[in-house]
Amino acid sequence: MGEAHKGILVARDWVLQDYLAAIVECSDDAIIGKDLNGTIRSWNRGAERIFGYTAEEAVGRHISMLATPERAGEIPEILHRISHGERVDHYQTKRMAKDGRVLSISLSVSPIRNAAGEVVGASKIARDITDQERDQQALRDANQRLTRANHDLEQFAYSASHDLQEPLRMVSIYAEMLQRRLADQLGPSGDQYLRYILAGATRMDLLLQGLRTYTQASTSDIAPDRKVDANEALRRALTGLTAALDGSGASITNDPLPWVRMHDFQLEQVFQNLVGNAIRYHSTTPPIIHIAAEWSDLEWRFSVRDNGIGIDPQYKEEIFGLFKRLHSAAQYPGTGIGLAICQRIVERAGGRIWVESEPGRGSIFYFTVPDDRRNQG
Ligand code: ADP
Repeated sequence: MGEAHKGILVARDWVLQDYLAAIVECSDDAIIGKDLNGTIRSWNRGAERIFGYTAEEAVGRHISMLATPERAGEIPEILHRISHGERVDHYQTKRMAKDGRVLSISLSVSPIRNAAGEVVGASKIARDITDQERDQQALRDANQRLTRANHDLEQFAYSASHDLQEPLRMVSIYAEMLQRRLADQLGPSGDQYLRYILAGATRMDLLLQGLRTYTQASTSDIAPDRKVDANEALRRALTGLTAALDGSGASITNDPLPWVRMHDFQLEQVFQNLVGNAIRYHSTTPPIIHIAAEWSDLEWRFSVRDNGIGIDPQYKEEIFGLFKRLHSAAQYPGTGIGLAICQRIVERAGGRIWVESEPGRGSIFYFTVPDDRRNQG
């Protein structure tokens, strides 16, 4: 056992002062003692390492030897506060090392009192945070560059998808005109080429529309204040899918769905894409689709289950990429944008989206929406 000195338990064979001095010496941080005039009284090995002065060089000199010209005013102010018994905690500032390097420093300074309780000096702990600060700044800069590049790219995609529409319309209009007025002079090959041109223009129009919806999903506000009824969003999505449902023989059921904090039209868009896919990628049997939502760990987990062709698990992440498709447009019509839009919308609302599937055994698409379960509506 040992002896307790003012809350510090020291082994019997240790003298308290030696023990404390050893702790101070071993610290990686600079631990500096100074009197109220600012004269340095003690200087540990951490201070030698950080500032480059040996204890012999530093003790007896004024603490202002560490100040950078811009921060020279800080030192008297800190000393003034200390002499009034105040502390300075984790104050981030700059100091200068012996070789002139400017260091980023986190400072904590506390008053030292004598037996009578009078403030007689200050103990200062200085941590060198230069590397940490440089890394943080590099991360902030990289983030800023990435945000700007993303924004520029979105802006570009949006303008391009807008501006390309007009020339595309010209191509379609004149190809249609040629077909109507000159079909008999063009012969069978000419007629077929025109049909290819028109089919290409229609597909490009669909891609441009998809791209516009995708960029719009990226620019809307993140999560709205109000909650919306997911049952309503699903109902509207199914109305929008009337043409796809007609003649598909699909049976669609759903559990009661919750209210969630999402944009009404965006939740509808997610349902419309997921249920639309569940209809389109059906197997030889008619589609059976079920939509459900379960509460789990501060979020709602929605699922859209189908009995369609399924997806090879190796593609389960790839399919969420822009323009990523597993089939040709001739096999299954589509643009490869639907799931990218869903992912954008869900992630901007703070959730995740993924799929569980096996070829031939149907798919379940899941997405989550974070929720505090307050104010239903
Ligand atoms: P699109 O359906 O227009 O091709 P999506 O982004 O909606 O674009 O889907 C990407 C790809 O993921 C599809 O081409 C298809 O291969 C696959 N996929 C999506 N939903 C399903 C589903 N329910 N069942 C099987 N495959 C699917």
